Parts: sequence; C-alpha cells; structure tokens
Amino acid sequence: MAASTGCGDGGGGATVVNNKQMILRDYATGFVAESDLSVTTAAVELSVPAGSTAVLVKNLYLSCDPYMGIRMRKPSPSSLALIGAFTPGKPIDGHGVSKVIDSGSPSFKRGDLVYCVVPWEEYSLINPTTGLALKIDHTDIPLSYYTGILGMPGLTAYIGFYEICSPKKGEYVFISAASGAVGQLVGQFAKMMGCYVVGSAGSKEKVDLLKNRFGFDDAFNYKEEPDLDAALKRCFPEGIDIYFENVGGKILDAVLLSMRIHGRIAVCGNISQYHLEEWEGVRNLTTVIYKRIRMEGFATSDFMCRFSEFVEFMLPLIREGKVTYVEDIVEGLENGPAALVGLFHGRNLGKQVLMVACE
Ligand code: NAP
Repeated sequence: MAASTGCGDGGGGATVVNNKQMILRDYATGFVAESDLSVTTAAVELSVPAGSTAVLVKNLYLSCDPYMGIRMRKPSPSSLALIGAFTPGKPIDGHGVSKVIDSGSPSFKRGDLVYCVVPWEEYSLINPTTGLALKIDHTDIPLSYYTGILGMPGLTAYIGFYEICSPKKGEYVFISAASGAVGQLVGQFAKMMGCYVVGSAGSKEKVDLLKNRFGFDDAFNYKEEPDLDAALKRCFPEGIDIYFENVGGKILDAVLLSMRIHGRIAVCGNISQYHLEEWEGVRNLTTVIYKRIRMEGFATSDFMCRFSEFVEFMLPLIREGKVTYVEDIVEGLENGPAALVGLFHGRNLGKQVLMVACE
C-alpha cells in the first residue's frame, strides 16, 4: 500500500505518496532469476497534471505472463519484431486491472475499472490514447479474471483454438502446459466441441487438476515420462489431429511423430526455449510434409479487434458455471519477482496473478 511521503500537497493541492515499483536491474543472462528484479520506491502525485488527457490509476491486479521473461532479456533479432525488451533501471510492464483515481480523459472517470497495460507499480499515469485501456463494464465477475480468462490469455485460447486449430467434433487434441492460463481454457473449449482431449503438465497436482477439474480425458506428467513418444502413443493410439503448442523443444519433436494426416499445430508458445542461450533443434520436422500438417504461429496482439466478441462469448460460460477457472494469486508487489520467475519454473498452479491492492 502507498504511504504518505510526508510531502503533503506541497501547498498546491496535489497529494504526493510513495509508489512501490518493480524494476528490471539489468538484462537477464542465462535463466531469468528473481535477483534480476528489485522493488524500489519513487514518489507519485495522486492527480493528473493540469491540461493533460492522461489517467492516474491505482493498480489492483497484475498479470504474470511468459512473454515478460523474454522481455527481461537483451532483445534478440527474432523477438524484436513482436515484443520490445524492458528497459533496465525502469519498472517492467504488463497487463493489469486498475482503478481510476483521477482522469484528464473524457473516456474515463474516477472510480472506473480498467483493463490496461501498466508499469509494475502501485500507481501509474497512463495514456489511454496510446496504450491498451479498456473500461471494465462487467463487475459481477472477479476483477482478477480480466488478467486471464477474460483477458489476453483467454483471447489467446479463443483465437488459437477456434481460429488457428480449425477444430471438428470428435478430433484428438493434445495440449502442452495444459494446466496454465491458456491451456486450461483450450482444453475446456475442445471438450465443449466434443473432442478427445489430453494434456501434459509438470506435476502430479497439475495432472489431477486436468483430469478432475478441467475435464480432460487423460493427462500425464511429462517430467516423469522417460519416453515422450511412448507416452503420446499410449494416450493417442490413433494419433493426434490438433496439437496446441505451448512448450516447444522435446515435446514438439515427440508430438510430430504422433500427428495424423492433415493435422494442425497451433504454435502459441515455446516456453521451454525462452531462456536457453541456444534453442534446441527439432529433429522430426519432415513429418510436416509426410503428414501434410498445417503448423501456424499466431500472435494474440493481432486479434485485439476481436476482444469484445471474445468477452461476449466468455461471459455466459463463466456466469453459468460452464467453464472452470483456476488462478494462483500472490499478494504484494514485493512478492512480484517470485511470482513472475516462478512461472518459468512451473511453480504456478493455474493462471499466475499478482495482487497489488484490494479493490
Ligand atoms: P502458463 O501455462 O500459465 O505458465 C507457464 C507454464 O509453462 C508453467 O507453469 C510450466 O508448466 C510450463 N513450463 C515452464 N517452463 C517449461 C519448460 N522448460 N518445459 C515445459 N513446460 C514449461 O502460461 P500461459 O500464460 O498459459 O502461456 C502458455 C504459453 O502460451 C506460453 O508459451 C506463452 O508464451 C504462450 N502465449 C502465447 C501468446 C501468443 O500471442 N502467441 C499469448 C499468450 C501466451 P508445467 O509445470 O506444466 O511445466
């Protein structure tokens, strides 16, 4: 929570308070570590400068996402086109849910709730005309959901499955990192469509979640399978029609051997490769030719124009209890480094969220 700096209003009417921030110390080398981040304090005025159209928000929930790990590293030529790196010495940023404290924008007023991109800090001055800032109209849903099932990861699952995978009833679907923010939703969408769905995850607890809460037909712990090819053949004796790719590396290589003719692979993420100095090679790519597989990468940022359509699709599923959603909420900005870096070690159970303040 912000505390008064003792600066008061300086006689000009504006209250100044401490603003805790999470800073990237320097570009991470090797696997990103909690020590690459630090929490510091700056001062912030709790009002929008006169004449400005900016909006001052209090940040409530911050989303921990795998792409943020890539942004903690020196920009590589391959990632640059899509995502820029964070700036060392400055707060990192990402998607969040915030409350408007003061507004110079005609589109927002004090008390409004906003889904936006914000620096990781307690209070932020945002410019709604240049960055993502969507007013939250449906407040009967837990606000943290806007960082996941009703936010960017949810849209990723929606576009990735319905658009990129071209699914049909009865098809065989495999999902890696299946218990996470995106995977848990893709699995449930596939079950709703009448597909046979199997997921992989990195612990027994996650495998239980997949089978017992998310309704997957089967699941396995990839860390305990000495032969991934054999595990996939056991789960899919007739092969895989759709692979929703979140992980890359060895899992992708094994999946290629089990794909059926005219199968589809939606390349959503390659989290196993993000923190390697040298990416692992994929040996079985020629299968894409033999099996006439369509393998398609996609970036959710290209589909933000579909956001309101996606929210309209998702809201009734949530309200009617037709979808199960599991999130892992860590409290306090000072615990941000552990929450974010934990994602890259699989410590999250469900969508990883950082709660900065209560509503
Ligand atoms: P998440 O699954 O909630 O969290 C990441 C999970 O990845 C971890 O819990 C861990 O689960 C798994 N993981 C971490 N390191 C791994 C490794 N070396 N090998 C295998 N698994 C590993 O994350 P999410 O937000 O749902 O994102 C899932 C994927 O979607 C990521 O690859 C992400 O980059 C991608 N994504 C892409 C877009 C896009 O626009 N294309 C948008 C959003 C997300 P286990 O314990 O199961 O290993």
